Amino acid sequence: MEAIILAGGFGTRLSGCVSDLPKPLAPVGGRPFLHYILDYLYVNGVHRAVISTGYMAEKIENTIGNRHRGMVVDYCREDTPLGTGGAIRKALGMCREEYAVVINGDTFYDVDLFEMQKIHRESGYPITLAAKTINNVERSGFLQIENGMLTGFCEKGASGAGLINGGIYFINKNALDFIDTEKFSFEKQVLETLILPVRVFESDAYFIDIGIPEEFARADSEAEMLKSKRKRRAVFLDRDGTLNVDTHHLYRVGDFRFIDGADEAVAYLKKNGYLVTVITNQAGIAKNLYKPVDVDILHRHIDSLLCEKHSVVLDGYYYCPHHPQAVIEEYRCSCQCRKPEAGMILGAIADFSQIGIEIDTENSFTVGNRHSDLLAGINAGIKHNILVGSDEPDAADIASAYYKSLKDFSDLEQVLKL
Ligand SMILES: [Zn+2]
Repeated sequence: MEAIILAGGFGTRLSGCVSDLPKPLAPVGGRPFLHYILDYLYVNGVHRAVISTGYMAEKIENTIGNRHRGMVVDYCREDTPLGTGGAIRKALGMCREEYAVVINGDTFYDVDLFEMQKIHRESGYPITLAAKTINNVERSGFLQIENGMLTGFCEKGASGAGLINGGIYFINKNALDFIDTEKFSFEKQVLETLILPVRVFESDAYFIDIGIPEEFARADSEAEMLKSKRKRRAVFLDRDGTLNVDTHHLYRVGDFRFIDGADEAVAYLKKNGYLVTVITNQAGIAKNLYKPVDVDILHRHIDSLLCEKHSVVLDGYYYCPHHPQAVIEEYRCSCQCRKPEAGMILGAIADFSQIGIEIDTENSFTVGNRHSDLLAGINAGIKHNILVGSDEPDAADIASAYYKSLKDFSDLEQVLKL
């Protein structure tokens, strides 16, 4: 899933509280508010976020950078203010998929994006809007909805419960191309005119708008609420011989080569909502053939190759530097991380849980080319453990019920048919 974050506004409503920062960087619970938005998107399966910037663009770009956890971050800068509609359309031009989720940089609304995406896909309409139920619409106005479609807006003045625009949308890539002005308001010129059919997705999830000074004060004391929690599927991927050609104790960047199609397979998984983590034994460290820093550099190189070609990065790299016969004493031990032990996979699961992601072990899998890869998955409670391109003769017995013999990891269709 790709996302667009609208972070180019002037922040006039907040100027009394934080004057030297754009609103999305306003500190909440000690972190820039935008970090909560990025975490939210990441936990909800977004693999790439395009931040639309304008006012204080450089401050935002310097604070956030080009990665957020396992998510690629790119920027779309407005040189002159384009209005919300113009900003969305320009950022959609940088997106590569059929549609993108669009979100305001100054609101947090914990909508389940997987569910909303499903409704957007199934309905076939160009725009889906997330609507939030509130108890009193007196100060905000409310939406009119019939059979799940937006039919109008009511101005302020009414009272009682109603649905308001939550500021999260799925919008098809070319949906706004027909508008012939460069600058336009998405709310006034697209939504309020009903010029395009808009499907409504109702969600009563937690909502806060930090553009309103009282809510900004409340966000600080409720920072714990600004944390999305989702169950996700994951792939725990062996490295040498599975992701890349095994050159035996590979550590030089120049020697790295993806197995044909393996990088496409990673991109496919990421774009379909899987978390993808590398789990690899690196006894070459224990044998003093290379150092942990070499492994880290190689892993950054893998991410930059994936990012350049497919706009994705992996969700983590875990390696075991130990070996029972290590020449370096520090690494000589029988550890809990060297595969077939489960330590690295369990460590990854624990790290995901820290940020609100529970791994759906029933629908997750390990992929490897050795007994030990599969056993590590089985020991960690991962249901599907898949062998690819192995030359180990009795590997099929070890993989038992979930054994699938694939030519290599790129042969994904079979993997996903499990
Ligand atoms: Zn270890």
